[in-house]
Amino acid sequence: MRQNYFVKLVRYMKNVYHLERGLNKLSDGRVNPTFSTGQVILPVLFGFLLRIKSFNELNFMIKNNEFSKLFSRGTKLPQVDAIRDTLKVIDIDGLNQINQDLVKKSVENKVFVNGTIDGYTVVAIDGTKFFGSNKKSCSECLKNTKGKTTHFFHSGAVMSTVGMGPKLVIGFEMYKPGQDAVSKDEGELNVGKRLISSVMKSHNKLIDVVVYDALACNSIWINHCKNLGIDVIVRVKNNNNKSLRLAKKMVNKTEAVDVWEDEKGFEKVEVYESTFTMDNVEQPLRFVKFALKHNDKKRTQIMMVTTCMNMALKTLFKIIRARWDIENSIFNNLKSECGLEHCFVHGGKAVEAVLYLIFIASNIMQLFLVRRLKKHFTTQREMVRLLLKGLYLLKFKAELVFSSV
Ligand SMILES: [Zn+2]
Repeated sequence: MRQNYFVKLVRYMKNVYHLERGLNKLSDGRVNPTFSTGQVILPVLFGFLLRIKSFNELNFMIKNNEFSKLFSRGTKLPQVDAIRDTLKVIDIDGLNQINQDLVKKSVENKVFVNGTIDGYTVVAIDGTKFFGSNKKSCSECLKNTKGKTTHFFHSGAVMSTVGMGPKLVIGFEMYKPGQDAVSKDEGELNVGKRLISSVMKSHNKLIDVVVYDALACNSIWINHCKNLGIDVIVRVKNNNNKSLRLAKKMVNKTEAVDVWEDEKGFEKVEVYESTFTMDNVEQPLRFVKFALKHNDKKRTQIMMVTTCMNMALKTLFKIIRARWDIENSIFNNLKSECGLEHCFVHGGKAVEAVLYLIFIASNIMQLFLVRRLKKHFTTQREMVRLLLKGLYLLKFKAELVFSSV
């Protein structure tokens, strides 16, 4: 093997992103623990980097000493029960800090210096369910009962960058039963507001535009983002409010402001737009409709509302299409490859902790693929295969050891 990709990855994690620092700062609520928090968390993080599908699989790897070269000689590693117990009482802020530091470092390393879409740094938010199970549950679980079966799950909203460059999970926020509205859209909107507020506290200059789906097409969301200093793009569906119905009617009477032939993936795109005011929103807004004629002659349309009054129509079109990215490259990938749907462990802080670790692993992998390997690989699966091969061939070297304090 010409180069060991696992060695490359470890060096990248240690030397560029200084993962040791964050791991060594982690703490948890165990009394007299045998293993430090970092020692417990590191195998889990590598497990997610290597796309484990269950904690059993991780336990086999630990028992087979597959991670032993990453620790100083003679270090005994925790078994899966100790890992579960630690995750339930871990200090979540420490994990949040690791992800924040990753994102901050990537900004410092100029990952987003040219934005992600036509010079703008664009993020998307989407709600999703995590860790569904008919067997395991905890007191924080949401429930869905059909006949005699009760399905337990958690839900939340995730924010990630979309467009060019690595797709980084910038933050996520859990739905809190009791605090967030029971109705699906209203509940998620609340979670989304909390998410963007907390992200703006830690990364105040990163985001130019946030794109979200139709549940956020209202004055509550638009005003919330404007107060934070971020521009908004939201999808519009057919059942929206009165001022929007008027804007739609108005646009239907006008001529297209632009027509694009042979736009990537479409035979023709006709663009319509108008400016309107929404109840309870001070500033005027822009309503844009893209009437799409697909290559198979099928016709569909995308409608949006935005606060970006001067943004080029092509850029708006790119952004609204990139919104699909968050579903394709983040959620589908995380669900099919990283076990986001798999129930790892419920109870205490474990759900949130596992989510942080999955997102941290995903961010490291995205940065490693895009920045360090510059798209040498066609699929992430191929990358994982080579990483596993590298892990098996790994020789003990002091510089590759994650030292704990
Ligand atoms: Zn639960």
